[in-house]
Amino acid sequence: MELKLYNSLTRSKEVFEPADPERVTMYNCGPTVYSYAHIGNARAAVVADVLFRVLRHIYGEENVVYARNITDVDDKIIAAATEQGVDITEITEKYARIYNEDLAALNCLMPTVQPKATDNIGGMIAIISKLIEDGFAYESDGHVFFDVSKFDDYGKLSGNTLDALRKGERVGEGEVARKKNSADFVLWKPEMNGVGWDAPFGFGRPGWHIECSAMAKETLGETIDIHCGGVDLKFPHHENEIAQSECAHGKTMARYWVHNEFLNMGSEKMSKSLGNVQLVHDLLEKWDGEVIRLALLKAHYRSELIWTEELLQESKAQLDGWYRFLNDTMSFEVSKEFIERHVASLKHHTLDLVGREPIIHALCNDLMTPTLIAFISQMESGGRLSLRIISEQPDNAPQLAQLVIFRKLMNEGADILGLLQKDPDDWFKSGVTDELEALCKEYDAVRDQAVAAKEAGDKAKMGEMFKQSDQIRDQIAEAGFIIETGPNGSELRRK
Ligand code: AMP
Ligand code: ZN
Repeated sequence: MELKLYNSLTRSKEVFEPADPERVTMYNCGPTVYSYAHIGNARAAVVADVLFRVLRHIYGEENVVYARNITDVDDKIIAAATEQGVDITEITEKYARIYNEDLAALNCLMPTVQPKATDNIGGMIAIISKLIEDGFAYESDGHVFFDVSKFDDYGKLSGNTLDALRKGERVGEGEVARKKNSADFVLWKPEMNGVGWDAPFGFGRPGWHIECSAMAKETLGETIDIHCGGVDLKFPHHENEIAQSECAHGKTMARYWVHNEFLNMGSEKMSKSLGNVQLVHDLLEKWDGEVIRLALLKAHYRSELIWTEELLQESKAQLDGWYRFLNDTMSFEVSKEFIERHVASLKHHTLDLVGREPIIHALCNDLMTPTLIAFISQMESGGRLSLRIISEQPDNAPQLAQLVIFRKLMNEGADILGLLQKDPDDWFKSGVTDELEALCKEYDAVRDQAVAAKEAGDKAKMGEMFKQSDQIRDQIAEAGFIIETGPNGSELRRK
């Protein structure tokens, strides 16, 4: 199966060919851990997770190495630690844990490796030393800068070549006084509030870009297959990663660059600085992680995604439909031989689906998640039609074979998207609060009293008790649940 990816470096869709199919490598710029991740950050992580799943499907689980780092040293982290009077690790460990928990709730697989910047300071110092030695970097007033004029390919990813940058140059900005060229960027800077490491160029801390260059090399190697991240990272972050790594190692840093577009609130990018963020942590209070994940995957990763409440509602309704179908057809199990026996009488378009790989097909076309989502819904509709026919003609073997095939395709498609990972029964029970549980118990108690009153011939009491139970049922219905009464009492299910 041929995987095509849009490579930001060549600005074209290309067939992906790993350097070594037995060790396919991908790197994704991870979070700076000083607060909660917002849903825009989650988009980048979920897109990378789908790519990871596709690569594992094609090359085998053991043959894909995915690194997503934790940036655990940064000015904002140090400032927060100083303000709270704690060590930086108190902040970083807490938010790294929350980040992983939030993403796990969105069904993101853990990356193969999750390097921390603070564990890789030695690697950063080694790269910086090499860059100084080879004349690509220089020391200035306690800082080390990368000299962009020494790298001919500067700007090849983002188009921000030195010429283009010079045109927009503004004098007197930030560190410009210490730099040779205003586009030079910092590799090492002096300590902040006592946070720093010993290095040949002074007690200090790394710049952000060098962290990723060092961690990518350490975990994956000098040349990696795929580097991911949001489009906002193309420049300066990824452009600078390329400059550092390629000058230090004399090799291509990443062969394919995959960038996801923004998640927007209205017409604006969701970002902390604009103050329009919705935190994953908060969204998970109200929505199941799969609802959020489906909402994120409904747009192709290279299109902007406008985040709305309606998008979430639509995603929930779609998942409810899928899970309901799985729930309604749970009892239909047939053997492979049964399917093979009846497959010949299936309609031509169903036959087309059997034995091919329609599932992975959509994703192999530059991760076309909307196509696969539409396909899953088509399988659900087709399966429902079969179910209706079977309910009228229980012996209709070809329809039963078709239903099982459609359900299998639905599950396979959902699996690779990281959806439908729950038991259908649990899905419909999710969201039952302690309060609702108590109401459900009360409902049973009131019904028992009504039945007892009926047996005792107390009509007035019976009427009163049934009225009360109706009220409880309405209250539960208002919260979105129905009561199902079985031999062991009543249970709640989502409507
Ligand atoms: P940050 O913590 O800002 O470095 O971002 C972590 C990841 O989230 C990066 O890959 C960013 O490009 C990505 N990102 C940040 N904001 C958004 C957004 N609004 N939409 C999509 N991706 C985003
Ligand atoms: Zn990075």
